[in-house]
Amino acid sequence: MILRDSTLEERMSWHAEQGFTVGIGGGSIAGLCNAIALRKIGATVRIYERVPGSMLARGAGIVVQSELTRLLAENGAGPLPRTSCRGRRYLDYDGGDGVLEEGPQEFTSWEAVHAALRAAVPDECYHAGSEVTAVTQKASKVMATLVDGTVVESDLFLSADGSGSATRQTMLPDVVARYAGYVAWRGTLDESDVPREFLSFFDDRFTFSGARSGGHILAYFIPGRDGAVAAGSRRLNWVWYVHVSPTDLAGVLTDKNGLRHRSSIPRGAAPESAVATLQARASREIHPKMAALVSATPDPFLQTIVDVRVSKTLFGRVLLTGDAAFVVRPHTAGGTAKAAYEAAALAGALNSAGANIDVALSSAERQQLEYGSALYEYGLALGNRWLRERRAD
Ligand SMILES: Cc1cc2nc3c(=O)[nH]c(=O)nc-3n(C[C@H](O)[C@H](O)[C@H](O)COP(=O)(O)OP(=O)(O)OC[C@H]3O[C@@H](n4cnc5c(N)ncnc54)[C@H](O)[C@@H]3O)c2cc1C
Repeated sequence: MILRDSTLEERMSWHAEQGFTVGIGGGSIAGLCNAIALRKIGATVRIYERVPGSMLARGAGIVVQSELTRLLAENGAGPLPRTSCRGRRYLDYDGGDGVLEEGPQEFTSWEAVHAALRAAVPDECYHAGSEVTAVTQKASKVMATLVDGTVVESDLFLSADGSGSATRQTMLPDVVARYAGYVAWRGTLDESDVPREFLSFFDDRFTFSGARSGGHILAYFIPGRDGAVAAGSRRLNWVWYVHVSPTDLAGVLTDKNGLRHRSSIPRGAAPESAVATLQARASREIHPKMAALVSATPDPFLQTIVDVRVSKTLFGRVLLTGDAAFVVRPHTAGGTAKAAYEAAALAGALNSAGANIDVALSSAERQQLEYGSALYEYGLALGNRWLRERRAD
């Protein structure tokens, strides 16, 4: 044990002594996971995030997975506020109390994950409003050009720039984000706004309802905006997977100001008519209590479901990570866990290899491809089952 600890310290100091630098493009979940894991092994890390201000309005519920909690615990980050339930409830769209299944589960929110990770990264390492506009390499150095023209150099550059990754499009121009044929409408309701008579029904359960024309909606409690988890201060989070034909997609992605979005409609931007249509559809298609949740949510938002699979993530000293590499279906509840796993794998490989950086990067890529492919296939299988059910309806 003593030997292992001292070896670890020596290796940790190797990256610090050598002044090993890592630039990260993208300061969301994947960028931050990598930052905390790489700082722990002694690397000097700089994150460049395009968004200038707060990113807190982005997400909703996240199912807690062990990869994330392990990464947080091992790198001194957290605590992560969580809610929990003791099992699932499967509802029929016609009504009734459904079927109960035991099996505890924990939930958190995108904001809580982001806040826990961000708090573990010193401000001087995080550059908001710094879009990366180009990435070039010379020998073992990577040069990233920022939107203000500054060029920053590092020994390793991680592209954590999400599902529409510009780096991926440059490195792998044949890989396209393929629309899966459906979108996720999402919403969160402050607990105080949840119809009172439904509180105990949804409490302590991860609730699912099939929809009459196929697909399903799910709901679970998550921490409040400030991370509060006490009853009364949480939020009820729902996600409804809805089929939208490719020809109708452009209309669905147009916001209330007529602006066409690439892949999502942010909270508060959906046209009133789209929200009204969704609510009307809910009253016809899903369990009445779920429909009541949808109707009570003032500002539902929407994300298209896309598939991205890569056969390579490493290009010299540039590595794709998080959704910039694979985009897996949300049914896996695994996107955040994948980002955490990749960060731990990279830090572990670098830590073991010391000066053999390129060997470490190849090992990290292998682990990423293996984990990413398996999760991608699992997500496809879950999604295809969903679509089959829809066709059979
Ligand atoms: C409907 C739905 C439900 C989901 N539910 C879950 C769940 O329950 N559990 C789960 O684990 N995951 C879930 N996910 C997936 C999860 O949100 C992502 O996999 C995870 O957040 C990893 O994101 P990321 O950091 O790789 O990318 P993103 O969160 O997309 O971040 C990319 C970042 O890069 C920045 N950026 C982009 N371009 C540049 C540039 N040129 N320069 C600088 N910065 C740039 C962006 O501003 C952004 O901050 C869900 C996804 C969807 C669509």
